Amino acid sequence: MSDQPQHCTCYECAHTYGFLGAEPHPGICPACGSRAVSFSGQVELVDPEDVDGDERDEVADLGLVNVVHVWGRDATDRPLSWHVDLVGTCQQPTLRHVRIGDRRVLPRAECWSDDLVPDVVRDAVRERTGSELVVPKGKGSRDR
Ligand SMILES: [Zn+2]
Repeated sequence: MSDQPQHCTCYECAHTYGFLGAEPHPGICPACGSRAVSFSGQVELVDPEDVDGDERDEVADLGLVNVVHVWGRDATDRPLSWHVDLVGTCQQPTLRHVRIGDRRVLPRAECWSDDLVPDVVRDAVRERTGSELVVPKGKGSRDR
Protein backbone atom coordinates (compact mmCIF):
# COMPACT_ATOMS: atom_id res chain seq x y z
CA MET A 1 0.00 0.00 0.00
CA SER A 2 2.88 2.32 -0.66
CA ASP A 3 2.94 4.99 -3.34
CA GLN A 4 6.72 4.98 -3.44
CA PRO A 5 7.99 4.02 -6.87
CA GLN A 6 9.45 0.54 -7.01
CA HIS A 7 13.14 0.71 -7.77
CA CYS A 8 13.99 -1.43 -10.78
CA THR A 9 17.32 -2.35 -12.29
CA CYS A 10 18.06 -3.72 -15.75
CA TYR A 11 20.70 -6.45 -15.51
CA GLU A 12 21.37 -6.18 -19.23
CA CYS A 13 22.25 -2.48 -19.61
CA ALA A 14 22.41 -1.42 -15.90
CA HIS A 15 19.66 1.15 -16.44
CA THR A 16 17.76 1.95 -13.23
CA TYR A 17 14.25 3.31 -13.17
CA GLY A 18 11.31 3.74 -10.86
CA PHE A 19 8.01 2.04 -11.41
CA LEU A 20 5.02 3.71 -9.85
CA GLY A 21 1.94 1.60 -9.37
CA ALA A 22 0.35 -1.13 -7.33
CA GLU A 23 0.44 -3.80 -10.04
CA PRO A 24 3.48 -6.01 -10.46
CA HIS A 25 5.64 -4.13 -12.94
CA PRO A 26 5.78 -5.61 -16.47
CA GLY A 27 9.41 -6.68 -16.17
CA ILE A 28 10.74 -5.04 -19.33
CA CYS A 29 13.54 -2.47 -19.40
CA PRO A 30 12.29 0.85 -20.82
CA ALA A 31 15.80 1.60 -22.13
CA CYS A 32 16.78 -1.57 -23.98
CA GLY A 33 13.64 -3.75 -23.90
CA SER A 34 15.40 -6.57 -22.05
CA ARG A 35 13.35 -8.73 -19.72
CA ALA A 36 16.33 -9.18 -17.41
CA VAL A 37 15.14 -6.58 -14.93
CA SER A 38 14.26 -6.69 -11.23
CA PHE A 39 11.78 -9.34 -10.21
CA SER A 40 8.16 -8.36 -10.33
CA GLY A 41 5.81 -9.09 -7.44
CA GLN A 42 6.30 -12.19 -5.35
CA VAL A 43 8.92 -14.75 -6.37
CA GLU A 44 7.58 -18.29 -6.21
CA LEU A 45 9.72 -21.38 -6.22
CA VAL A 46 9.07 -24.00 -8.88
CA ASP A 47 9.40 -27.74 -8.55
CA PRO A 48 12.27 -29.05 -10.72
CA GLU A 49 9.80 -31.37 -12.46
CA ASP A 50 7.85 -28.33 -13.63
CA VAL A 51 10.90 -26.63 -15.13
CA ASP A 52 11.17 -26.48 -18.91
CA GLY A 53 13.14 -29.42 -20.25
CA ASP A 54 15.81 -27.42 -22.04
CA GLU A 55 17.29 -25.67 -19.07
CA ARG A 56 17.01 -28.73 -16.87
CA ASP A 57 18.87 -30.80 -19.46
CA GLU A 58 21.53 -28.14 -19.73
CA VAL A 59 22.12 -28.36 -16.00
CA ALA A 60 22.09 -32.17 -16.07
CA ASP A 61 24.66 -32.12 -18.89
CA LEU A 62 27.11 -30.33 -16.67
CA GLY A 63 27.25 -33.51 -14.61
CA LEU A 64 28.02 -31.59 -11.47
CA VAL A 65 27.40 -33.12 -8.09
CA ASN A 66 28.23 -30.33 -5.70
CA VAL A 67 25.56 -28.07 -7.05
CA VAL A 68 22.19 -26.97 -5.80
CA HIS A 69 19.66 -25.45 -8.14
CA VAL A 70 16.65 -23.48 -7.04
CA TRP A 71 14.01 -22.72 -9.64
CA GLY A 72 11.38 -20.04 -9.55
CA ARG A 73 9.28 -17.54 -11.40
CA ASP A 74 8.00 -14.07 -10.72
CA ALA A 75 4.63 -12.38 -11.20
CA THR A 76 5.28 -11.93 -14.94
CA ASP A 77 6.03 -15.66 -15.25
CA ARG A 78 9.68 -15.11 -16.06
CA PRO A 79 11.71 -18.26 -15.45
CA LEU A 80 14.29 -17.74 -12.72
CA SER A 81 16.98 -19.96 -11.30
CA TRP A 82 19.72 -19.73 -8.72
CA HIS A 83 22.87 -21.75 -9.25
CA VAL A 84 24.62 -22.63 -5.99
CA ASP A 85 27.94 -24.46 -5.66
CA LEU A 86 28.96 -26.32 -2.51
CA VAL A 87 32.44 -24.98 -1.92
CA GLY A 88 35.34 -26.30 0.11
CA THR A 89 35.51 -29.00 2.73
CA CYS A 90 32.65 -27.35 4.62
CA GLN A 91 30.50 -27.63 1.48
CA GLN A 92 29.53 -24.01 1.94
CA PRO A 93 26.62 -23.16 -0.38
CA THR A 94 27.89 -20.27 -2.50
CA LEU A 95 25.91 -18.43 -5.14
CA ARG A 96 27.41 -18.67 -8.64
CA HIS A 97 24.81 -16.82 -10.66
CA VAL A 98 21.15 -15.95 -10.91
CA ARG A 99 19.43 -16.67 -14.17
CA ILE A 100 16.57 -14.48 -15.35
CA GLY A 101 15.15 -15.93 -18.53
CA ASP A 102 18.24 -16.52 -20.66
CA ARG A 103 20.35 -13.87 -18.92
CA ARG A 104 22.82 -14.74 -16.18
CA VAL A 105 23.68 -12.21 -13.49
CA LEU A 106 26.80 -12.80 -11.42
CA PRO A 107 26.98 -11.65 -7.79
CA ARG A 108 30.07 -9.64 -8.73
CA ALA A 109 28.33 -7.84 -11.58
CA GLU A 110 28.16 -4.06 -11.53
CA CYS A 111 24.37 -4.14 -11.57
CA TRP A 112 24.03 -6.72 -8.77
CA SER A 113 21.19 -6.21 -6.31
CA ASP A 114 20.39 -8.11 -3.11
CA ASP A 115 16.83 -8.29 -4.39
CA LEU A 116 18.10 -11.03 -6.68
CA VAL A 117 18.24 -13.42 -3.72
CA PRO A 118 14.83 -13.34 -2.05
CA ASP A 119 14.28 -14.96 1.33
CA VAL A 120 12.44 -17.93 -0.19
CA VAL A 121 15.64 -18.84 -2.02
CA ARG A 122 17.82 -18.51 1.09
CA ASP A 123 15.31 -20.66 2.97
CA ALA A 124 15.30 -23.30 0.24
CA VAL A 125 19.11 -23.47 0.19
CA ARG A 126 19.26 -23.72 3.99
CA GLU A 127 16.68 -26.50 3.88
CA ARG A 128 18.59 -28.49 1.28
CA THR A 129 22.14 -27.97 2.53
CA GLY A 130 21.77 -27.18 6.23
CA SER A 131 23.92 -24.07 5.73
CA GLU A 132 23.44 -20.40 5.12
CA LEU A 133 23.78 -19.25 1.49
CA VAL A 134 26.89 -17.17 0.84
CA VAL A 135 26.70 -14.43 -1.79
CA PRO A 136 30.28 -13.50 -2.77
CA LYS A 137 29.72 -9.88 -3.60
CA GLY A 138 32.49 -7.69 -4.92
CA LYS A 139 31.31 -4.59 -6.69
CA GLY A 140 34.08 -3.25 -8.86
CA SER A 141 33.21 0.40 -8.31
CA ARG A 142 34.88 0.87 -4.91
CA ASP A 143 38.12 -1.03 -5.21
CA ARG A 144 40.64 1.76 -5.15
ZN1 LIG B 1 18.08 -2.36 -20.12
